[in-house]
Amino acid sequence: MTDPAPLTLPAADAYLPWVTASTESLLADARAKAEAIKTSPPATALATLEAWNELDIALGNLSARGELFSEVHPDAGVREAAEQAALEARKLSTELGLDTELYAVFAGLDADGLDAQATRLLEKTLRSFRRSGVAADETTRARIKEIRDRLTVLGQTFARTIREGTRSIKVTPDQLAGLPADWIEAHPAGEDGLVTVTTDYPDAIPFRTFAHDETARHDLLVASLTIGYPDNVDVLREMFGLRAELATLLGYDTFPDFDAEVKMIKSGAAIGEFIDKIADAALEPAQRDVAILLERLRQDRPDADRVQSWDSAYYAELVRKEQHDVDAQLVRTYFDFGKVRDGLLAVTGRLFGLTYTPADVPVWHPSVTAYDVTRTDDGAAQGRIYLDLHPREGKFKHAAQFTLTNGVAGRQLPEGTLVCNFPTGLMEHDDVVTLFHEFGHLVHHLVGGHQRWAEFSGVATEWDFVEAPSQMLEEWAWDADVLGSFATNEAGEAIPAALVERMRKADDFGKGYFARTQMFYAALAYRLHLENPEDLVARTRELQEQYSLFPWVEGTCMPTSFGHLDGYNSGYYTYMWSLVIAKDMFSAFDADDLFDPAVATRYRDVVLAQGGTKDAADLVEEFLGRPYDFDAYAAWLAE
Ligand SMILES: [Zn+2]
Repeated sequence: MTDPAPLTLPAADAYLPWVTASTESLLADARAKAEAIKTSPPATALATLEAWNELDIALGNLSARGELFSEVHPDAGVREAAEQAALEARKLSTELGLDTELYAVFAGLDADGLDAQATRLLEKTLRSFRRSGVAADETTRARIKEIRDRLTVLGQTFARTIREGTRSIKVTPDQLAGLPADWIEAHPAGEDGLVTVTTDYPDAIPFRTFAHDETARHDLLVASLTIGYPDNVDVLREMFGLRAELATLLGYDTFPDFDAEVKMIKSGAAIGEFIDKIADAALEPAQRDVAILLERLRQDRPDADRVQSWDSAYYAELVRKEQHDVDAQLVRTYFDFGKVRDGLLAVTGRLFGLTYTPADVPVWHPSVTAYDVTRTDDGAAQGRIYLDLHPREGKFKHAAQFTLTNGVAGRQLPEGTLVCNFPTGLMEHDDVVTLFHEFGHLVHHLVGGHQRWAEFSGVATEWDFVEAPSQMLEEWAWDADVLGSFATNEAGEAIPAALVERMRKADDFGKGYFARTQMFYAALAYRLHLENPEDLVARTRELQEQYSLFPWVEGTCMPTSFGHLDGYNSGYYTYMWSLVIAKDMFSAFDADDLFDPAVATRYRDVVLAQGGTKDAADLVEEFLGRPYDFDAYAAWLAE
């Protein structure tokens, strides 16, 4: 069987007709396939599933192109057309999920003689129909469709408002004191003599970490935490209300119950319990480290009684520098973007047995690079990746992996894109960790993208497992040998192992209060979906005070720019849940040889390459030789 060819993208200026035409043809194709299953049902269960798989491929391609290009294309007209494509894909998917005739075909299939994977696919398909509401009466189905279509529009509005809602503050040049020289150089004063600092990560993260000026740090934090405010308040309230109504119509007590049913965690109540379990485990280390921050803060402001959010990154940096001898400004001299990108490819190539070959193909922006990925041992095609790693106007503001195509064996290769916002020059070490994290999703998408069924392709496990492979890969960005292999300064000297050792110790500082802040976010996502509070700001404030060790900041409304509220919905706890599993899986690797091929290959083949063909708990158990547990995480938190 020859490998399918990767998708050919149009030239950067020919996207509009391409998006429009491909939306039309993929939609028509998917509709025709659904119609054919209904009007002339295939003779066997297997043939029906195969026809369904073809529909899945068409719909997946439509949705992926829409979602990717609505977030990355430099031309607003193309972003809009792509948004429309994603909207059409969701609409059709809702329509199919509520199609009683289609459901009748699948419900009537005889599963006898299907192999294990086909049986799994049939079960998941029937469950998905039930969760779509196909069994409800006609009036209810009509209302469900209305709700789902409206939720898609609300989700797009929510994301667009964030993406296009970058804010900025103006400061005097002397308020830049403390920032790295190259950062200051890249931020000259305008004609009014003032310097503009935006809320985009490459501006905001260094500013909050290094700027000595408290007022400016405060102002930038408030600007960041008011993105989408107040526009997104009504959007969120309507979204939470509709999700709750949807869950009720489908027979669930709460939206989180509906959301959690198909995840490892299983129930809404378990989300609340998990959040409190982590918050409890983290309280003592959190209080200990915040006390250290406060002590250091009082050297500057003797009357301070709390550490504020706009102080936390700045004083954590000072503690790391003064008490752990880690100077982030020295550290970043070792992380030139180009070297880091090449290093990442070398490290993951060695670890997972992959070879990346630069592909000279059309891309949507000149800063995007493409690579063809093959297996190093037998040269088998693994797919194609695109790296879109620098900020620009109108582009997605965070860091994520976007699917371009889902791989299906013999049918189409998996292709994925990293969309991030890194500087083009020197990076913070945190950026390097983020890059490894996101690449973990990309490798999962590629290596797991060789399934027979599109439904199980790539990152297709339960959603609360998906952060485990990427959080585990972060560990490689903390290893002295790994970093030493690519992180060199201008003089060509590798980052010293002793410095990396101190960085690790310094990074441990703050993990308790970081976990509490994460549980604040998780509680927000869970509680807002449960309660849909009338006063979003007041409830945010209460939850911040309950979970975070840093007080609420007057004038802010974090949820209006909390993009995960659409996508992860009530499941932001996922990150911590996955981290517990990631710490456990990492314990199987030899700390002195992270590249041990026996472990790395087993991990690749037993966990990543399986995609969604098995339950995540089973994948992990097969890799570890036992069920996963809380021990490795608890030990890490306490140490
Ligand atoms: Zn992630």
